[in-house]
Amino acid sequence: MLLVKNGRVIDPASKTDSARDILIDGEAIKEIGEPGKISAPQGSEIFDASGMIVAPGFIDIHVHLREPGQESSETIDTGTKSAARGGFTAVCCMPNTKPVNDNASITRFIVDKARSASVRVWPIGAASIGSKGENLAEIAAMKEAGIVAVSDDGKPIATAKLTRQVMEYCKSLDLPVIEHSEDVSLAAGAVMREGVTSTRLGLRGMPAAAESVCVARDVQLAELTGARLHIAHLSAKGSLEQVKFAKERGLRVTCEVTPHHFTLIDEDVQYDSKFKMNPPLAAREDREALIAGLVDGSVDAIATDHAPHEPALKDVEFDKAPFGILGFETAIALSLEQLVQSGKLSLTRMVELFTTGPARVLGMERKLTAGQPADLTIFSTTHEWKYDVKQSPSKSRNSPFDGKSFKGAPMATVVGGKIAYRR
Ligand SMILES: [Zn+2]
Ligand SMILES: [Zn+2]
Repeated sequence: MLLVKNGRVIDPASKTDSARDILIDGEAIKEIGEPGKISAPQGSEIFDASGMIVAPGFIDIHVHLREPGQESSETIDTGTKSAARGGFTAVCCMPNTKPVNDNASITRFIVDKARSASVRVWPIGAASIGSKGENLAEIAAMKEAGIVAVSDDGKPIATAKLTRQVMEYCKSLDLPVIEHSEDVSLAAGAVMREGVTSTRLGLRGMPAAAESVCVARDVQLAELTGARLHIAHLSAKGSLEQVKFAKERGLRVTCEVTPHHFTLIDEDVQYDSKFKMNPPLAAREDREALIAGLVDGSVDAIATDHAPHEPALKDVEFDKAPFGILGFETAIALSLEQLVQSGKLSLTRMVELFTTGPARVLGMERKLTAGQPADLTIFSTTHEWKYDVKQSPSKSRNSPFDGKSFKGAPMATVVGGKIAYRR
């Protein structure tokens, strides 16, 4: 057995914020009680969480693990090691692998590989075959094999007509449709957000509307079909207004925001591909709107969009480099710094955005009670450290936060009763 003692337990689902000991038997929580009241049997492992926060296991609803097909950038093994180090106990991997996860045999391959991974892996299946935007993928068969959602991430579902079909199909299967909202005609050729900075750097920019017009399309189709729609990596103020409009109408529309979009803006972009991601870093007023949305509940989850690219691919000219940055190992620290230590968000709300929030998007529950799977994220709000990307178990190094100092860090990650990472 494992006894996690003396921690400050924050569990949004049960509205708990108090000192508690947690006894774990095998893969499940056995008992939660006041400090010192639970006696662990002889030979139990003890984890002293004094001065630390103990929360339900954090879920990252949007990640890229690059396996199968791009193992030189990441594998399920290396990606989940990095996830555990970042405090995540479960990750949802996007289907844009090679080949694309658009059929049950690829889903089963991922699920099989994930049995020996450091954290739980919940695959997302493609919406269309090859994510080409032409014909529906084998969604029902992939659901049987274990997918938790559907997406053509990397790009939007190509047409309104196909999006409608995907939504109708997913509604009958009760699967969320996760949309990378982008009008490809407005975004064509762009490598960052359009504005003063893109002009100064001489880089082609895309307007905020490249995202928000597609969000508007998707919200209208969610209303038409009654499907569950989740907007990935929402970055623009106008997009969030669409999501709020949808929520007010009672539609089943949710969204996620990444740590890099609530931390950096287009003015921070340097001529360095570590600042190149899609959607690109947005304007100051967008970041303010995203933070307000994280506070008021219109944003449902924080997701990293962990997007590893090996140095040979990423360390090239800005225009030629692929989009995306690493996300796992800086997510908690950036959230603490930008949202909690800045006084904008309570710790409970932050925990909610990593636990009950993403769980609800997936139609799951996340709470700390006896009998539940023993997935815990244990973190410190005071531990001082410096992020050194060279020490990451990830195969890639593409982070704009390399070398940054932080106050607050993941301290241990417990997955199914086992300590998957310990600082
Ligand atoms: Zn995307
Ligand atoms: Zn993505």
